[in-house]
Amino acid sequence: MSDIIQLLPDHVANQIAAGEVVQRPASVVKELMENAIDAAATHIKLVVKDAGKTLVQVIDDGHGMSATDARLSFERHATSKIKSADDLFSLNTKGFRGEALASIAAIAHVELKTKRSQEELGTQIEIEGSEIKAQEVTVTPKGTAIAVKHLFFNIPARRNFLKSNTVELRHIIDEFHRVALAHPDIAFSMFHNGSETFNLPKSNYRQRVVNIFGVKTNEKLVPVEEETEVLKISGFVGKPEFAKRSKNEQFFFVNNRFIKSPYLNHAINSAFDGLLKDGSHPSYFLNLSVDPKTIDINIHPTKTEIKFDDEHTLYAIVRASVKHSLGQFNIAPVLDFERDRNLDTPYDYQNKRASTPSVEVDRNYNPFQEEQNFNKRSLAKPFKKESAQWESLYVGMESKGTKTGSNFSQVEFESQPESQGLFNDASAESRQTTYQLHNKYIISTIKSGMMILDQNRAHQRVLYEGLLRSLTVREAVSQQLLFPLQLQFSTSEMEVLQELKEDLEHTGFLFSEFVKGNVEITGVPINVAESEVAIILEQLLSDVQQEVPDTNFSAMDLMAKSMAKSLAIKTGQSLTRMEQEHLVNSLFACKEPSVSPTNRVTFITMSVDDFDKKFI
Ligand code: ADP
Ligand code: MG
Repeated sequence: MSDIIQLLPDHVANQIAAGEVVQRPASVVKELMENAIDAAATHIKLVVKDAGKTLVQVIDDGHGMSATDARLSFERHATSKIKSADDLFSLNTKGFRGEALASIAAIAHVELKTKRSQEELGTQIEIEGSEIKAQEVTVTPKGTAIAVKHLFFNIPARRNFLKSNTVELRHIIDEFHRVALAHPDIAFSMFHNGSETFNLPKSNYRQRVVNIFGVKTNEKLVPVEEETEVLKISGFVGKPEFAKRSKNEQFFFVNNRFIKSPYLNHAINSAFDGLLKDGSHPSYFLNLSVDPKTIDINIHPTKTEIKFDDEHTLYAIVRASVKHSLGQFNIAPVLDFERDRNLDTPYDYQNKRASTPSVEVDRNYNPFQEEQNFNKRSLAKPFKKESAQWESLYVGMESKGTKTGSNFSQVEFESQPESQGLFNDASAESRQTTYQLHNKYIISTIKSGMMILDQNRAHQRVLYEGLLRSLTVREAVSQQLLFPLQLQFSTSEMEVLQELKEDLEHTGFLFSEFVKGNVEITGVPINVAESEVAIILEQLLSDVQQEVPDTNFSAMDLMAKSMAKSLAIKTGQSLTRMEQEHLVNSLFACKEPSVSPTNRVTFITMSVDDFDKKFI
């Protein structure tokens, strides 16, 4: 039998390598931006179309390439950054594998223009699927511009695998943030579909953080500075009271390279021990400088993981430095007043207002406490603001009354006989007895024994189905606000909100302004109190960022889940008997009463038989 092993042709090898290097448009953004930094650029411009699916272009003013180098740069293992294996241990550049351009060119249409400062003319190369289509001399400014079009044009399976534009853009913005945060001394800008998303001038680190995450970030940063023999640590942590529900403001850089280190993340969390509310995560923007010899960045192909020689010491130093800074801040807040005057714009003031609700709103506020008032309120029309929370209890019920609701309740009706059968008899609802246990569970008698319902989960289910319905039938009712509500968001939050805007409108939100980090709200869904708006949107942003929806339906689903979570009756809230009964009834008017929107059990039953067994 003849030999069967053969060497793969280059373009095939490149395509295979591309699978590792280029997962999505954001990978291209990362590689191109890193190359620009390695080329000592001072201005880097990122241009993206259709979340990178149509175009990713990076334009730099770095040192450029000669005609030969330009051609060579697309070869696999072609790099100017290391010469021998030894160099791997003293890396000062981002790249070193010489794989990125070869991989990208294997799976996209690439156009490169480059010129070195000492040369009159530059080089232009066009390459498609590893095949050089054209190479010519061109007039171009100093530096390099690389345009990557039609990513995965020759691998339809990969192209189809790409997520929605919202998701892909989110990934791109994440990469952009990481690179921009690691290099405040370089100016960056980003354009998406023709409009400027970021414009970050060269600045100090604090300004860079603020320029990316919004002016309101300024007041929450606590500086961290420490220098020891093994490492230098600098940057900021967020004050504990500003901790977020999402982890998207957590940045660790080692020698200006973004890394993920669950271990060091743990070190920071432990420095915050006892200072954070449950479920919230500290913000941090920390840079470690260590001797390149003591780290190995080579263990992960996309290089966001890193291995340190002496992790234990690093852990201890990071933890101690953060603790020290937080301590200083607690004892002497004055130390933190290293404010940048440029940032003290009048917006700062507005922002203070905008960020406070999340702290000041009394989430345990119980509108049901006064029974007399309640009775009056329950007669009021749902447009009354004070009754908002109370009305929210009715969402599931209300849907039946509305015209479009009739369809909906017909569908529900199929499940009615079953749920009604659960109770003693259909007309017994008025006599039905409920009891609230520890402001957490509602106990209700049923034919076979008793049912115990988790008030928070049950209400989430009720709200979720109502919201999902509003989103799909698009006939939500809004309540006009007397005074428009102004909220401020960072650029990246605005990007996400922009994508969600239409769906938010379908739940009943009305926006009168939606530009430059400023959102003005003139109407809210009828079951939402004005004071809850900031919380809902913050929760929504955090949920979308954590669990990025990839289809339209899942975006709506996520929104309904997120809002239901924000609005639902909380554990610890006491309910009157009528409210308890309404909750039980609303739950059983749902299509799927047995689980919460996040698939957790909403109620359990215990039969008289079960009790009998216990009483033996
Ligand atoms: P690596 O960055 O690992 O060396 P790449 O495939 O990303 O590999 O790039 C190959 C080579 O092309 C680089 O080593 C560098 O010499 C050159 N190069 C790539 N991008 C640029 C750029 N924007 N400016 C100047 N040279 C570049
Ligand atoms: Mg590179």
